[in-house]
Amino acid sequence: MDDLRYQIDLLTALNQKLNNNERMYKLICETSKRAFIYINYINNTVKMVGKWEDYIDFRIDEAAEITRLLDIFTEKERGEIRRLLFIEKEGKDEQSYEAELRDEKTWVKLRVNIYRDEFGVLTDKIIAIENVTKLHNHRDELTYLAYYDNMTNLYNRNYFITKLKNFVEMAESEKKIVSVMLIDIDDFHKISDSRGIVMGDEVIQNFGLFLNDLTENYVIGSRFDSDIFCLAIYDPCGHRSVETIYKSIKEFLSHPIRLTDMTDVPITVSIGVAEFPEASDNALQLINCAEIVMLKAKEAGKNNLKFFDSSILNNFLRDVSLENKLKEAIFGEKFFMNFQPQFYTESGKIRGVEALIRWRDRDGTFISPSLFIPIAEKNGAIVPIGDFVLEESIKAHMNWKMKFDFPMILSVNISSIQYNRQDFVPKVIALISKYNMKPEELELEITESVLIDDFKSVISKMMELRDYGIKVSLDDFGTGFSSLSYLKGLPIDTLKIDKSFIDNITTDNASWIIAETIISMSKRLGFETVAEGVETREQYEKLKEISCDLIQGFYLGHPMEAKMIEELLIRNI
Ligand code: C2E
Ligand code: MG
Ligand code: MG
Repeated sequence: MDDLRYQIDLLTALNQKLNNNERMYKLICETSKRAFIYINYINNTVKMVGKWEDYIDFRIDEAAEITRLLDIFTEKERGEIRRLLFIEKEGKDEQSYEAELRDEKTWVKLRVNIYRDEFGVLTDKIIAIENVTKLHNHRDELTYLAYYDNMTNLYNRNYFITKLKNFVEMAESEKKIVSVMLIDIDDFHKISDSRGIVMGDEVIQNFGLFLNDLTENYVIGSRFDSDIFCLAIYDPCGHRSVETIYKSIKEFLSHPIRLTDMTDVPITVSIGVAEFPEASDNALQLINCAEIVMLKAKEAGKNNLKFFDSSILNNFLRDVSLENKLKEAIFGEKFFMNFQPQFYTESGKIRGVEALIRWRDRDGTFISPSLFIPIAEKNGAIVPIGDFVLEESIKAHMNWKMKFDFPMILSVNISSIQYNRQDFVPKVIALISKYNMKPEELELEITESVLIDDFKSVISKMMELRDYGIKVSLDDFGTGFSSLSYLKGLPIDTLKIDKSFIDNITTDNASWIIAETIISMSKRLGFETVAEGVETREQYEKLKEISCDLIQGFYLGHPMEAKMIEELLIRNI
């Protein structure tokens, strides 16, 4: 009897233990993110554990019914899922597979494990399902981010370079050409400054999506940097020739870009093209070459396309060597000043001079300021150069004054880099005090490029200078983004009409009308008006006719050394 009691207790304890174990496994399964189907082939039982209701709305009670799971998958996945559910037929014990559900939103990972007895007969099968949508999307996103620019769907720079390298390798073996087009939106900073970053992004996105439409197997595209795009064309010809692609771009840009706020933004682009094998056989260098010509296209007035040729590379290298020479020159004092006289048109009397820097190279050749000033602006050398120019010119001015006691105005060109420095105004004031120069004898020539920067602070600096008595002149009017209407608000004293407007006034009636309009408008706005680059008597006479205040140009006087100005003053006063 005791024995029986003992057996019952033992069984009860075992049962309890089994129940506990089963409960434990069930709880573990339910808290796991997976749902399971456990099939026992020996007893022919099926158990479903976990949240199957997330995936199916039916129950599976028999092993044969597991094929009903196929219904939840998209059609194209079903073949693969069927193989997975019956991996025993392929002699496998374990396998998993990720597939999309019929709702086309959910991704699941299905895993099947099987167990056999010692004779190899199937005894158990566990099918586990897990929702991996987030992971899948995230992975998609990572793959996407690794290769694409999310604003435009174009390749990102790294992936583009890899693809371009492939193009170059392929072209090398197939003896084909690869064209690289580097495309930069002109004056993009003005767009984003005036319209804000978000609208600026919209412009980039619109243009980028358009470029994306041009891409195909042999035309790949990338957003390279903020507003810089790059296309690479394998074996350019027919519809994918550079000319045709350029034409499409021009056509697209012939209408302004319409933004979501229903405003229109017209844009133009500058494009540089370099080709394998002519420009280089190296993918990165091809891009560099394309960039060099793109910058040339910008210098040539923007809104155009330029092809790379070796002379451009030579010029670029010249600029680089110029940059190195420039560094030497600053320390080696190879600069000196020339002065070009300005005359009152009516009386022919001298009004003053414009100071123009000169640089004589080691071998005695002169290097034009139009060449080295832009480089000095880029590398910051313009600041010490500008200081030199101001001090040397003021010294020369005070020397003439001492000798001739004649009222003269000294005009000095100021680069926007100098002008925008915080210490600019105090520096100028300190200098004129140092040499006892009267502020009204100094005129600072700035170009419209300074106005691109923080307009308010540019204007307040102008006012500060003028409050102190220093004159401000706007140089090269007509070459920048000038419009007569914005002139009226500018605190300037003098307007210098660029030579390009003066050039054809005697030969071309339209040019004359334009020059005349600008000059008379400028006078009416109260500015003293200078015509620059007057080279002939006829031009001078015409300008006199409309009473342009001042004349500067080779006709009345070339830039010259300070000593020669003295001779001029002796004759002129
Ligand atoms: P800019 O300020 O407009 O100076 C006038 C330029 O036109 C000078 O060239 C002058 O020599 C030239 N020019 C004057 N009259 C005539 C003419 O009748 N015909 C022709 N063909 N040219 C004439 P330059 O000295 O080569 O200077 C070029 C530019 O370089 C200047 O244009 C100015 O923007 C810049 N620059 C010159 N000196 C300085 C300087 O000291 N500082 C800064 N920041 N820029 C300077
Ligand atoms: Mg000037
Ligand atoms: Mg000028």
